[in-house]
Amino acid sequence: MTRLPNLKDLTLPRLEDFALSLGEQRFRAGQIFKWMYQKRLPDFSEMTNMPKTLRAALSDRASIAKLPPVRALESSAGDAVKFAFALDGSGYAVESVLLIDGERRTACLSSQLGCGLGCAFCETAKMGFIRNLTPSEILGQLVGMNDYQAARGDRVVTNIVFMGMGEALGNYDNFMAALSVIMHEDAFNVGARRITVSTAGVVPGIERLMGEGLTIGLAISLNAWNDDMRDGLMPINKKYPIAGLVDAAKRYYGRTGRRVTFEYVLIEGKTDTAEAAGALFGLLGGFPCKVNLIPVNPVDPRMAAPDDGAVWRFADALYGLGLAATVRRSRGRDIFGACGQLTAELIERGG
Ligand code: SF4
Repeated sequence: MTRLPNLKDLTLPRLEDFALSLGEQRFRAGQIFKWMYQKRLPDFSEMTNMPKTLRAALSDRASIAKLPPVRALESSAGDAVKFAFALDGSGYAVESVLLIDGERRTACLSSQLGCGLGCAFCETAKMGFIRNLTPSEILGQLVGMNDYQAARGDRVVTNIVFMGMGEALGNYDNFMAALSVIMHEDAFNVGARRITVSTAGVVPGIERLMGEGLTIGLAISLNAWNDDMRDGLMPINKKYPIAGLVDAAKRYYGRTGRRVTFEYVLIEGKTDTAEAAGALFGLLGGFPCKVNLIPVNPVDPRMAAPDDGAVWRFADALYGLGLAATVRRSRGRDIFGACGQLTAELIERGG
């Protein structure tokens, strides 16, 4: 049996084209958008503001199926929920995380199944790259989280970070299609200021993004203070070395006015030294940016996280040099939902 196309793969203009192809008017697309993303219906049968004949025609031609939830695991502190959603036909489930902080509900979304960039500190990297997620699979994570939140009487997602599995800028078109839905007022209505995309340093992707006229936040996973060290931790550095990457970040700030965040993993004796602090200042001093320090997660026994005192000493050293530095509290570490720890599992064979 052929699989019906999922309408969540379509941006609003493409959904309008689809409505026109059925002999309907454009406004039907906006109605479908609201039913799919605000009411989160699983099919067309309850779209009560549309004629039954149209609902039947839609069911014959398309699907709005959700990603089946496999699991939702709450952290012991109640500040994070790690989800796994089954990906149709792949046999895999993809993970994403909801972070709970005061009034903020931040979805950390995955954009690829696996990742081909091979960062040394990252659990996802061990899987290699399997495939890009489609827009419906990216948005499906969000729909699933909002279903979960509604069922427990809590707020739906307010903020989005593309920091889950994969490199969003390496899946550019699908990422942008999903982003247009996330920001649309008839869908998730999340404003650009509440969205951040993280990149391992895909400079052409950053350049494309700055041409979109959007003001979403940019986080760059820097993690090292010289090219030799970064080559070893993040092989993408051989293609896009630090100097060009920092230059792209400065231009991104110039175009969008958004202060860029540099994610910096602290590895004891390697990236947390006094020499590292001075070199970071040499790279980033005088540029309005922020350095987010992340003690490395224990995925590799050869890389230890510095103790809390050393983390704060490093933060103070940067601060003393005039660099804005924050320390990321690794929420959800007990459910393996922290940075660099998302993965996918094979849930069925032969899919
Ligand atoms: S840290 Fe990000 S870019 Fe690097 S391998 Fe992991 S998922 Fe890919």
